Amino acid sequence: MRRVYIALAAAVASFSLQPIATGQSAAQSRPLRIIAFGAHPDDAELKASGVAAMWASQGYKVKFVAMTNGDIGHFAQAGGPLAKRRKAEVAECAKILGIENEVLDIHDGELVPSLENRKKMARLIREWQADVVLGHRPYDYHPDHRYTGVLMDDSAIVVVAPFFVPDTPPTARNPVFMYYSDAFKQPYPFDPTIVVPIDAGADQKWRCVSAMPSQFGDEDSWQGRTQPNVPQGDQERKAYLLDVVKRRSAAVADQYRERLVALYGKERADRVHYAEAFQLGQYGRQASVDELKQMFPRIQ
Ligand SMILES: [Zn+2]
Repeated sequence: MRRVYIALAAAVASFSLQPIATGQSAAQSRPLRIIAFGAHPDDAELKASGVAAMWASQGYKVKFVAMTNGDIGHFAQAGGPLAKRRKAEVAECAKILGIENEVLDIHDGELVPSLENRKKMARLIREWQADVVLGHRPYDYHPDHRYTGVLMDDSAIVVVAPFFVPDTPPTARNPVFMYYSDAFKQPYPFDPTIVVPIDAGADQKWRCVSAMPSQFGDEDSWQGRTQPNVPQGDQERKAYLLDVVKRRSAAVADQYRERLVALYGKERADRVHYAEAFQLGQYGRQASVDELKQMFPRIQ
């Protein structure tokens, strides 16, 4: 275990966000790298595509990974054809946001926090050499969401252990692990560490949502069948479902307005319309709020 501790100490000591400084290692001078896990092909997109678009526009490297292929997430279609369709939708989203993406071929509704999947997630974090890992809290309504969170927590230490999946080199430094916002109260409500104003990335987020009609467009799409009072016509339905997402992003800004004020001051916080929020996990690198503010896109 000695090597692990050495790697961890080095990871903590070497972290820097400032690009390019004479004598620093390659890992320190490269752009920040972010990997965001969603249980299904639409989750990372819903929770983090505003911040992803803004990161990408700053030259940072972002990758979205769906842990399952989403092959039961529709009321009139399933299996291979739906999985293919959803994979194409999130690929289009990634293009809009300027990021990379991957969809794992695990059936929707069947993700388990197995050793095999822990290794899979650890390899993905390592291959990306992530500085920041985003994902669901392990307290969530859907088992795939919960287990994505459990797998994140389980990966937080082993990504720096050189003899865990030794075929993939460990991350040079321990990443920061952060959870997406959610509305679940038990056993603990979400407690935002960082609230990111996403107004500058909002258009890309709405275009991304519009690129996923299997979830936000079809009459038998997941949201089309589960949201109340969805109108009949195709265009009306699409606009209505997009508006649901817009209202959720506005609700994040409103719900955490006090946190926005604490982070950015009242004058700037009052101008924020849409936001995405993230809570620092307790098992990865424990970055300070000031460091996190440097890492996340700056408010204008
Ligand atoms: Zn989901």
